[in-house]
Amino acid sequence: MIVIMLGPPGVGKGTQAKLLSEARGYRHVATGDLLRAARREGTELGRKAQAFMDRGELVPDEIIIGMVEEVLGAVDPEGGVILDGFPRTVPQAEALADSLDRLGLSVDRVLLLTAPDEVLVKRVAGRRSCPVCGKVYNVHFNAPAEDGRCDACGSELVHRADDDPETVRNRLGVYRRQTEPLVDFYRNGAGAAVVEVDGNRSVDTVQSALFEAVDGRGAGT
Ligand code: AMP
Repeated sequence: MIVIMLGPPGVGKGTQAKLLSEARGYRHVATGDLLRAARREGTELGRKAQAFMDRGELVPDEIIIGMVEEVLGAVDPEGGVILDGFPRTVPQAEALADSLDRLGLSVDRVLLLTAPDEVLVKRVAGRRSCPVCGKVYNVHFNAPAEDGRCDACGSELVHRADDDPETVRNRLGVYRRQTEPLVDFYRNGAGAAVVEVDGNRSVDTVQSALFEAVDGRGAGT
């Protein structure tokens, strides 16, 4: 099962992809997380990506495509893969189709999460994440037990630099211009089922809708 999570920043792709991958044993591949890890480690990839990420722009396709091909080459695709934050442009989607084709696979589901812009800006402003285990919180509706500390591993939570309101508005514009065209790309004959899910609901409600869309089974089964 190859699943793509599509949707604007702050809509809940990461949270839901994590839940889905844990419940179904899929490999969760989040390109934003991979790039942030590369930056922390100071690799060449991290240095190349830095300026684009800080401005809220997309990292060039050739850098991202190379990175994802490396990851896909190492995973067991038979076990299922959930792609979170990739593809984000039509050339990335075409490159993904080619890579999967070489493995005898194709995209099975595109899960499109939606929410109004004002909800997204508020969610992203309140987002805090754990740089160590990747758990994501929100100071407005999913706060950690101890202010600023990860419940799971106790590390100090961070507010991503590209989550400031101005950069988020830029990221939303980039999403509309460069990523939203993928909805038509997949709807018009790329062979994958596109399922649109209203992301402006509780984490549990969205989770149930996504589980249903992936394999017709509920979250608890
Ligand atoms: P995310 O964590 O998915 O919100 O991604 C954070 C940032 O990483 C984005 O704003 C982009 O600068 C970069 N990025 C992540 N995934 C991609 C991608 N598929 N293509 C280009 N840039 C990406």
